[in-house]
Amino acid sequence: MPKRAAERTLYPVVEGWLKRHFACFRTAVKKGLRHSRIDVVGVRDTGGDLSGEVETIAVEVKRGSFPFANACGQTLGYNVYANRVYLADLRLTPFTHDEIHIASHLGIGLIQIKRGKCLEVISSPVYKPIEKLHLRLLETLRLGRCQLCASVFNIGDPDGGNNRFSNLARENLRKAIASEKGLMFWNREVAARKHRLRLRVSRDGTTYERRFLCPDCISYVVSQLASGAGK
Ligand SMILES: [Zn+2]
Repeated sequence: MPKRAAERTLYPVVEGWLKRHFACFRTAVKKGLRHSRIDVVGVRDTGGDLSGEVETIAVEVKRGSFPFANACGQTLGYNVYANRVYLADLRLTPFTHDEIHIASHLGIGLIQIKRGKCLEVISSPVYKPIEKLHLRLLETLRLGRCQLCASVFNIGDPDGGNNRFSNLARENLRKAIASEKGLMFWNREVAARKHRLRLRVSRDGTTYERRFLCPDCISYVVSQLASGAGK
């Protein structure tokens, strides 16, 4: 079996483990991003009762026979997107002392895949990813951050194809309230500033500077203002 095909058979094993071990509410395999591609990724809630904080976990999957330090370096690179980074390797024998030393020196977690099961050998430190890359990763998983309650919520169906924003009304509050959806709006001032400085060039006047409000904030908070103002 070609190596890449063989690695692919391990993705569901790791994905299932992320759901069980870390209680990830959203997982995905081979998420392509502008600068990288993550083998398996999961998102879990870590905010307790008072916050909608989440943590993203990125896993690089290998099946033995590769330069170990190179794979560790590749795994570490995921910390620009994710809060925790793991190298998962298919092997019958445990990681050697040298391998564990390298992984902990670099600051990555290690998972041994053995007979269809995952074992966390070293846990990953928690990283602060680059904000824009982290939010882009969440958006590819159809998750967005609410500007009011700061929770992460479903902006669209994760299996819903090209429409990333099917759970959002576009700058139409009445529609958002009536259909119990969230709201997407655009910040023109910030977009114009970035366009002027050529940080984000818009060719046809499209504004990319999108922000979200979650369905709960719309239904239980914003709708009260709307009904009070409208009647
Ligand atoms: Zn909210």
